[in-house]
Amino acid sequence: MTFPCTECGACCSSIEGIDFLEEYNENGICKMLVNNRCSIYENRPLLCRINQAYEEIFSSFMSKEEFFEQNAKACNELQERLGIDLKYRVVLNQ
Ligand code: SF4
Ligand code: SF4
Repeated sequence: MTFPCTECGACCSSIEGIDFLEEYNENGICKMLVNNRCSIYENRPLLCRINQAYEEIFSSFMSKEEFFEQNAKACNELQERLGIDLKYRVVLNQ
């Protein structure tokens, strides 16, 4: 199972305070985000790769289901805060 990212771009527009992404931070928005797409997608940092980040980091701490649930909750809360259309909400187990 891979994380069902809806490509809303919300996470890339809210990187203030994330140390791993500080070099890309431009007023809280990642400067690699171009037309709401990642311009370095193939070479994006590990933290931006949800599935790979789970395997390489978070699998030592929690199940994949738990990790995906936490991420989906964070995505949806962020989307609500940014006023992003409901059609982009992340729904697990579909
Ligand atoms: S906020 Fe979530 S759904 Fe939106 S682009 Fe980021 S990971 Fe994907
Ligand atoms: S590097 Fe790409 S995926 Fe990561 S925050 Fe920036 S635009 Fe988003």
